[in-house]
Amino acid sequence: MNERIPLEKFEDSKTLIFFHVFQFPTLLLEDILKKVGNFSSLFCNKLGGKYVFTTCHIYSSILVEPRIWHITDYRNDSMYLIEGKEKAILFDTGMGTGNLKGYIQDLTDKSIEVIISHAHWDHIMQVNQFKRVYMNHKEFEIIKIFNMDIDYTHFLNIKDKDIFDLGDTRLEVMEVPGHTPGSIVLLDEENKIIFSGDAVGAGYTWMHLPGCLPLSRYIESLYKLYERIKNFKKIYHGHLKESKPLDIFYLEDLIKAVEKVIRREVIGKTYNYGNFEGLYVEFGSVVLVYNPANI
Ligand SMILES: [Zn+2]
Repeated sequence: MNERIPLEKFEDSKTLIFFHVFQFPTLLLEDILKKVGNFSSLFCNKLGGKYVFTTCHIYSSILVEPRIWHITDYRNDSMYLIEGKEKAILFDTGMGTGNLKGYIQDLTDKSIEVIISHAHWDHIMQVNQFKRVYMNHKEFEIIKIFNMDIDYTHFLNIKDKDIFDLGDTRLEVMEVPGHTPGSIVLLDEENKIIFSGDAVGAGYTWMHLPGCLPLSRYIESLYKLYERIKNFKKIYHGHLKESKPLDIFYLEDLIKAVEKVIRREVIGKTYNYGNFEGLYVEFGSVVLVYNPANI
């Protein structure tokens, strides 16, 4: 009898994983990960006391714009591959597992440079598969705060107004400190597209984590960003659902939500998700999560 373990259970239920590991000690989960690399489904078969698994890519991708792929890992963290005539940029490397580099090389034959939006786990974990990596060096602080196992000694710094010329596409770096001290976004002025990581959130905007700047600093970043992109059409953020970008109205809602909290016009309710305490307020299309001691 085959019994399928839904993929989400790997994240949500360690008990289930270990139950099966103990039931079938022939292979530990770590060995399976090493062996199959990318997988999206796992089947257990009691016959012979061995795991039987089917494999396919844990990464998936959709072409959202001409020569722009939206790539997701097994947790639905977003990455973007932006391909120009001369080279390609991979924006973020997700949480992921397995051979991300191999997956990307199947999508493009151009040389790949990586730009990291910010140093949270779900945007950076597979970065050490790549040689040429750019990240704002203010993010080293985040790697240290969370004691992450990332070798960042070779990372090249990026800052406001840096330009990445891909041959026929130009991407401009803009610093948007707030969610983290060195959060950056990429602007495609010609096509009026922004790649934002978590700088403006993804419907939920997390400003309650260790390392987040006070809201009074964040609002300055948002004003500056809005001035720069108010005629942009699409916000491709770090946790895209169904490959649909947000629009500029989302940023307007976010600014209003942050202003209301700063002015104490609203008091948040307790936020009960994740490992860090915070309060949340809702405004229009935005849920803003913040730390009341860091306004
Ligand atoms: Zn983040």
